[in-house]
Amino acid sequence: MDKSLRACVYFRQFFILLAFFAYHSQFAQKTKDQKEDKNSTEDIKKVIDSIADADQELSYQHFLKKGNVKKGLFNVYNLEGDYYFEIPDSLVARDLLVVNKISSVPYALNGHGLNKGMAFETKLIRFYKDTVLNKVWVKTINPRVQSPTSDAITRSVKANFGESIIEEFDIKAKNTDSTSAFIKVNKIFNGKEKSFSDILANTGLGGSIKTELSILEEVKSFPENIVVKSLLTTSVSEGGGPALPLSIGVTTNIVLLPIDIMKPRFADKRIGYFGTPMDYFSDIQQEVETRELITRWRLEPKPEDIKRYNEGVLVEPKEPIIYYIDPSTPPQWVPYIKKGVLNWNKAFEEAGFKNTIQVKVPGKEDPDFDVDDVRYSVITYAASENQNAMGPSVVDPRSGQILESDIIWWHNLMKGLHSWIRVQTGPIDPEARANTFSNELMGEAIRFVSSHEVGHTFGLKHNMGASHSYPVDSLRSRSFTSRMGGTAPSIMDYARFNYVAQPEDNVIDITPEIGVYDKYAIAWGYRWIEDKTAQEELPILNQWIRKHEDDPLYFYGPQQAEVIDPRSQSEDLGDDAVKASEYGLQNLKRIIPNLLNWTHEEGQDYYKASKLYKAVIDQWERYNHHVMANIGGVYLNNTVYGDGKDSYVPVPATQQERALEYLIEHAIKPQKWLFTPEITDKIFAVRDAPDGERYYSPVSMLRIYQTNVIYDLVDTDRIMRITENQVLEKKDNPVFTEQYLFDQLYDAIFEKTQKGKSLDMFDRITQKNYVDVLTVDRNKLLEKTKENTVSENSKQFKNIHFSYLPRVSDAGTNKRAALEKVLSLLKKKKKRGDQATRAHYRDLISRIEYNLNH
Ligand SMILES: [Zn+2]
Repeated sequence: MDKSLRACVYFRQFFILLAFFAYHSQFAQKTKDQKEDKNSTEDIKKVIDSIADADQELSYQHFLKKGNVKKGLFNVYNLEGDYYFEIPDSLVARDLLVVNKISSVPYALNGHGLNKGMAFETKLIRFYKDTVLNKVWVKTINPRVQSPTSDAITRSVKANFGESIIEEFDIKAKNTDSTSAFIKVNKIFNGKEKSFSDILANTGLGGSIKTELSILEEVKSFPENIVVKSLLTTSVSEGGGPALPLSIGVTTNIVLLPIDIMKPRFADKRIGYFGTPMDYFSDIQQEVETRELITRWRLEPKPEDIKRYNEGVLVEPKEPIIYYIDPSTPPQWVPYIKKGVLNWNKAFEEAGFKNTIQVKVPGKEDPDFDVDDVRYSVITYAASENQNAMGPSVVDPRSGQILESDIIWWHNLMKGLHSWIRVQTGPIDPEARANTFSNELMGEAIRFVSSHEVGHTFGLKHNMGASHSYPVDSLRSRSFTSRMGGTAPSIMDYARFNYVAQPEDNVIDITPEIGVYDKYAIAWGYRWIEDKTAQEELPILNQWIRKHEDDPLYFYGPQQAEVIDPRSQSEDLGDDAVKASEYGLQNLKRIIPNLLNWTHEEGQDYYKASKLYKAVIDQWERYNHHVMANIGGVYLNNTVYGDGKDSYVPVPATQQERALEYLIEHAIKPQKWLFTPEITDKIFAVRDAPDGERYYSPVSMLRIYQTNVIYDLVDTDRIMRITENQVLEKKDNPVFTEQYLFDQLYDAIFEKTQKGKSLDMFDRITQKNYVDVLTVDRNKLLEKTKENTVSENSKQFKNIHFSYLPRVSDAGTNKRAALEKVLSLLKKKKKRGDQATRAHYRDLISRIEYNLNH
């Protein structure tokens, strides 16, 4: 939402400019046209004649004579501006995949995060020839339901999971022996029909295509695919403003899928691969078998190498995986991006393949190179303010085979990397303190992102649990971090830069590398198994996992929408969040006095210092989250029969107590070192909001951040998990209780009140925040409970309900008791302290009484 606002503001200015230029060029065009008036009338007449001609007597001969043909999967004819496919009978009923991608966007959509290279829609289609009605029908099917051809149930599968018609074409001509059909295809690519591509619905833009402002620009035909380029125009009006035209370049690929379908591999919850769902029906079963196929490239040894491969000799795969680097990539980053990709070759050796991955910069030997052509996997460089990167793939839905992958690399990603590196490693690396880094330092970060994104294009999901396997103190060891490759055994974790290491440790390898888990995951997904079906492979795959199940380096911790398992968090490091965060805080405290030094640029304002200040606050907040997740945390293990593990294990009570102690000390008590340092006479923290820079005043910032921490800590879901954990905890183990939590908070926040001392402004802020959170939260709790909907995000991992009907749980009772305890103290002490303190007490008393009575 934020982004669109800004985009819109800029877009209006841009639009006015554009109109200004358009007026001039139109004017110039007219004078030129007038001179050529005579010629153009004759041309138009010719065109009209030929169109009439074409409509009346389209014949094979006519196409051969007048049509401009491009031979390939289908021969494509351009006849007076119309496009025709010649569909041969050999392709009738074959599986084809339609892949739609964005190939250009105007300014306003760039701001929405839409960029060249993004695939927005894929569907499986088949062409059928109808000689009776003289038509070609196009049907689509969801291929997720399968059954053996010879089984009786297959008849029913066909009837119940059939194809749907999405398009029809008149057959305009046939070849001499009638083994092909000519169809005119303009309508499916010029925005008139949505059957093959529906950019507006699929990108959430809505509205409709203005066909008179849309063009079918080009059709190319290659042996295994057709590439069609269109420019489609719509208009949007935001916030009651004038309608703005938006033209989006769309590339539609029609790709022939292999008859010889790749053997799928079934997914396993204990290892992180993206998946494609599949349902198997058969006569012998008593229940339909539902599986997920992992998405992966088709890597097989060449027939002549099979024997050696099976003996354990490294061989080259039949088809290597080739990545092309977008020619628009700034040249100084190309070697680092390349390195990030090629480093994966080591991982594929664990699967028995060598030289699996190649990186090319498109040159003369690739005359057909096109970023939007699905035969090319491209690392696309997007000029954009977006600070991100992504690695999506085009997948054969019948087998999970990755046909092509693209990485989108947004230019301003480097801004984000710079900020992280400076705030996380500036204290231990003088190089990482500057406003601009050396190419080597930035290049190393780019290498890391390149490896991570390429990892996604091999099918790998995030492994947010990987970093948990390294002991915190090992992250301070120069030899350990150099030997083990940075901060985690998986580059698919969000384990960024080593914030744990202290200046005296002299750690140098601060950036993650492809690690033990990554190699194991690639071996598991890609090792080729001869002569076994996907079902028959299952025991082997299970053994490969069981072999390492007790080694933390092989742990897979899925990404979580809401963090329940504190081991699997993003941006955290090490096996102990409290200890890691304490080291991190020591480093942050080294930055604050240096905010101006590190960012110094003569004659410049303090914007960069203000940004760095905000980055320090964000990093402090990250540590709070990492520690917080331990309170009411549950280790969620992906277990199977035979491994002897527990599926649900509460975080040990002592660990929860340490976490609470950390939060009270470093997040709830007023953090004056962070929010009111001496530097605030020169700089306030700044955030780049969509409507411009937004500066934060120190005291109100302290208050807001403190509220957030307390709110999060006594969150009803968390309190209810603390209750559940008391049941899950093994007999005789100590338990962490809600009572303990509220008592600790009470003692810390009301310590001075208990002693009858006067409160300063920060003490009063803290007490007000605590009372406010409890009162507001109690009100919310009493509202009618809505059932939580399951979002796409929460489906990523076990969707466990810890908070059914919170209204009647002990959570509300505990919060009421906590307020009553405060009230009784305040009533006793209301005459103690200075005037401001007594006024504060009277105010709190009336607020609590009002809340308890309503
Ligand atoms: Zn990622």
